[in-house]
Amino acid sequence: MTEEELCDWCEEVLQPYLDRELNEVERAEAETHLAKCAYCRDRYKFEEDLRQLVRRSVVEPMEPALKAKLSDLRLEL
Ligand SMILES: [Zn+2]
Repeated sequence: MTEEELCDWCEEVLQPYLDRELNEVERAEAETHLAKCAYCRDRYKFEEDLRQLVRRSVVEPMEPALKAKLSDLRLEL
């Protein structure tokens, strides 16, 4: 990724947008921006996936194999 593709917008607005903290006007602006900015779209998609992963790991019980792996790691510390 080149520097030209970086965008400051997502640093300010992406988090509140994901958290649904924006008012209607700000939301519309955010959606307009996402429609034209590939960099922010990628960031948005990444953050959304991350949130879904976190949500899923909270809801679903941990797999026994993963649990065992984690406790192995802890013993090594
Ligand atoms: Zn952008």
